[in-house]
Amino acid sequence: MTGTQHSSGASGSDRGLARLTTLRLGGPARAVVECRTTDDLLGAVADLDARGEPVLVIAGGSNLVIGDAGFDGTAVVIATTGVEYGEQDGRPYVTALAGTDWDALVAETVDAGFGGLECLSGIPGAAGTTPVQNVGAYGVEVADMLRSVRLVDRHTGEVSWVTPDSLALGYRTSVLKGHDRHLVVAVSFWLRPDGTSAPIRYRELARALRTHEGGTARADEVRDHVLALRAGKGMVLDAADHDTWSAGSFFTNPIIAEDDADAVLARIADRVGGDVTIPRYPATGGVKLSAGWLIERAGFTRGFPGDEAPARLSTKHTLALTNRGTATTADLLALAGRVRDGVRDAFGVHLVPEPVLVNCRLPR
Ligand code: NAP
Repeated sequence: MTGTQHSSGASGSDRGLARLTTLRLGGPARAVVECRTTDDLLGAVADLDARGEPVLVIAGGSNLVIGDAGFDGTAVVIATTGVEYGEQDGRPYVTALAGTDWDALVAETVDAGFGGLECLSGIPGAAGTTPVQNVGAYGVEVADMLRSVRLVDRHTGEVSWVTPDSLALGYRTSVLKGHDRHLVVAVSFWLRPDGTSAPIRYRELARALRTHEGGTARADEVRDHVLALRAGKGMVLDAADHDTWSAGSFFTNPIIAEDDADAVLARIADRVGGDVTIPRYPATGGVKLSAGWLIERAGFTRGFPGDEAPARLSTKHTLALTNRGTATTADLLALAGRVRDGVRDAFGVHLVPEPVLVNCRLPR
């Protein structure tokens, strides 16, 4: 593989975890260990596990909310980067070490003339974390192109490549989510050899590309448009823009069971007024609603609760909860609780946080 694979494993002197998250929130860990090679990573985790030391694995820090008290254990930072191309049965693929920046990987594959990952442009975080919650955007999810994942089983020490069918990949979920038994150390994706995109499934993107839903386009064009759309919503990291100091979408889009859908939709229509079209999409197991739309219609407009608040909804997208620079995790979670409760009270729909919450939780 190309890229940085220097041997390291140094303990960080700065134990603060806020700097390792896109929200820039969270207190210190007892220790921070940065691993730049897979061997260092495997060794560090095995050693900590053997000693019974609690381990918090951090890669891109883009989906992580860490409590103000920090983490009473060791944070292991996955900083393994490297990308390698190959071909199997005439199909190209790319394999990346877990700490490789996701968007850098997407950009590299597009620049190399391959398609498949372009709709997932501009998503913050590291490549290794993408299968865990089956990251998706604009109608493409990691599961569509996933070839295999290299896992270490922390109970047995076994390291193996597994195929997607053993991961139970679903809507923003997989068997890897919510457990820390398995650690992803590398991930491999199929690519489209002709440089065309995956079929465009989202109207907003199709419109920007001047194509129709179901059509394809050049992967580099799709990437440019996805980046522009995301940037307009504050969903591309920019240190100077507090609207991007977030964990992306804070709540997953709720999926309402088929049997309940009519009643829920009728209740929403009743609350927002008759002639409004409620965004709804077919989903496995029911009907998917737009969390951002529900939040807005429940009265939480962009920038809520206003200029003075240290934690606010993004001024560009109601689904992103942001740190304006001086927030604490408690501030952010209090805001999350208000939004969750407001949507429940208005529509009877329960929103579930998408990020991993470490040593903290939403108010009851
Ligand atoms: P949007 O266009 O305002 O639409 C709201 C939601 O409706 C989306 O989240 C999407 O669900 C769903 N949707 C829209 N068109 C759809 C279609 N044709 N078929 C099925 N579902 C459809 O969405 P947005 O907030 O700007 O986000 C655009 C895309 O980027 C979405 O796919 C979103 O998931 C992704 N994104 C993800 C994150 C994150 O942190 N995970 C952050 C920003 C954006 P899905 O979310 O299920 O696609």
